[in-house]
Amino acid sequence: MNLPVQSAGNPYGPKSVLMKPPVEYRIRPSRPGAHLFEVSCTVLDPDPGGQGFSLPAWIPGSYMIREFARNIVRIEALADDKPCVLEKVDKHSWRTSPLRGVKKLVVRCEIYAWDLSVRTAHLDTTHGFFNGTSVFLAVEGRTDAPCAVTIDRPEGGQYADWALITTLPPAEGGPTGRCDFGRFVAPDYDALIDHPVEMGRFARARFEAGGVTHEIALTGRQDCDVERLCSDLARICAWQIELFGAPAPVTYYAFLVMVVGEGYGGLEHRASTALLCSRADLPWKGMVGLSDGYKSFLGLCSHEYFHTWNVKRIKPAAFTPYDLTRENHTRLLWAFEGFTSYYDDLALVRSGVIGVDDYLALLGKNLSAVMRGSGRLKQSVAESSFDAWTKYYRQDENAPNAIVSYYAKGALIALALDVQLRAGSAGRCSLDDVMRLLWQRHGCTGVGVPEDGIFAAVREVGGEGLGTRLARWLRQAVEGCEDLPLAKLLKPMGVVLEATPAGVAPVLGVKLAAGAGEPRVANVYDDGAAQTAGVSAGDVLLALDGIRIASAKALDDLLARRLAGEQARLHVFRRDELMAFTLELGEAPADKYVLSLAPRAGAAAVALRRGWLGS
Ligand SMILES: [Zn+2]
Repeated sequence: MNLPVQSAGNPYGPKSVLMKPPVEYRIRPSRPGAHLFEVSCTVLDPDPGGQGFSLPAWIPGSYMIREFARNIVRIEALADDKPCVLEKVDKHSWRTSPLRGVKKLVVRCEIYAWDLSVRTAHLDTTHGFFNGTSVFLAVEGRTDAPCAVTIDRPEGGQYADWALITTLPPAEGGPTGRCDFGRFVAPDYDALIDHPVEMGRFARARFEAGGVTHEIALTGRQDCDVERLCSDLARICAWQIELFGAPAPVTYYAFLVMVVGEGYGGLEHRASTALLCSRADLPWKGMVGLSDGYKSFLGLCSHEYFHTWNVKRIKPAAFTPYDLTRENHTRLLWAFEGFTSYYDDLALVRSGVIGVDDYLALLGKNLSAVMRGSGRLKQSVAESSFDAWTKYYRQDENAPNAIVSYYAKGALIALALDVQLRAGSAGRCSLDDVMRLLWQRHGCTGVGVPEDGIFAAVREVGGEGLGTRLARWLRQAVEGCEDLPLAKLLKPMGVVLEATPAGVAPVLGVKLAAGAGEPRVANVYDDGAAQTAGVSAGDVLLALDGIRIASAKALDDLLARRLAGEQARLHVFRRDELMAFTLELGEAPADKYVLSLAPRAGAAAVALRRGWLGS
């Protein structure tokens, strides 16, 4: 298959005019059964004082220190083909002894790859997947030099039919299509590690949208209606390209999907995304309408695709460049993740893949999730962004009471901002204009967004009066902890927002751990019946008033026959100790939010709503 490469002409990209000699990498799935990749890195004319190397501590897009170097099983260095000293300097860095007169330095390592996530690397006898951050050492002083990497097929007849997919451009004389092993190039280290690679026997399909060739690779057993998936994705991708304005920043884009029994996750890259999804969430032949799981999978694809602009190219100044050795703090993840979360589902309705009712249901679900945690009253989304590394990405049982999601509340802030821009300008401007301004000013230029850059963009788009007022409103919304007045803000759009209790049964004020196992408390909500009585996260529920609680459903069934305000006796195991609590059953909070179209909206409201959600 012959597909367009990212940069025609000079395969290394424009920077190669500097023409430092490329750093040469080679990666081989050397022992798939043992989950081991063998990786080498060759440096010509290394630093005579001693050459430094390091492996990233985190991967862009996933804001947590992961210390990928912990998976290096063996590492050695050869100077002009003779062993040389390679001293470990810290948890992820090495340095050779002085190399006076050495022409060629090779560092070889063996890397353990057995994490089935989108963030690291995974290898077995059925497939291989890796992110460059997990396998390619950065060469000190050469991270801006061009890179080349040869990706080898595992040895042995059983791997003869393995294919490969990556958005790394093939080198001259490398693979002619994008489905073969061989040599690839990148203009610098930053690009090298931003093109994940999948290899094995995967299903693949291709579609065109907005002038871009897209491919999707599905690894793992599945019965996906690939045609349906491609036709829905094509509409979503085309809509996003139109939003920012053609041409898209890429000519080839790949969705690398790992299909499993139960899983969910995605990570954005400059020309691709790595996704993990549940088999049941994929569309099947004969599916009528869209299942909830499929809507959520399309939302995930849409989210990662939107990042092609928002965060991969429009970046916070704090990420230009990334420092991969330590945390990179920014207070702006509400804009890069929250706004992306707003547009992921919005793209589904605006492209016509889902209906308006479906979209309003998704909004209601997100709002309910935010309103369920009292953490929203204690942490702002700006603080949540800054502390992503230690709080959002390292959530414990108290998370609902302590933190707010910059994804979920960030999306609500985007919604509130969008409808205010639209209503305040009688439909003349919207958040779409803010995104386009950010794209022109920061995405196209590579200039990072300063910490107050989003407020400035809103001010500029809204103009004097509206823009100034909304920039001030936005700052307050992201720095403060107040709930957003969404019912009031949605009214001019002809949308009604109501809060109702999720049910009539009383509640304990706990969330049970997911899964079909014993009913174990995952979270205890602030000021609920359980917390007041002393029930704790980790407790296993045994009986309510002497009747066994065999499962989460059994608890629901017991509570359904009770009234709020009644006393109840609850038995639990904490560790191996039996404990009994007397508690007063709580009233179900009104935290289920439902959005609907106002039945008698005026013409102005209908026009605004059409501009917002499409007709
Ligand atoms: Zn994201």
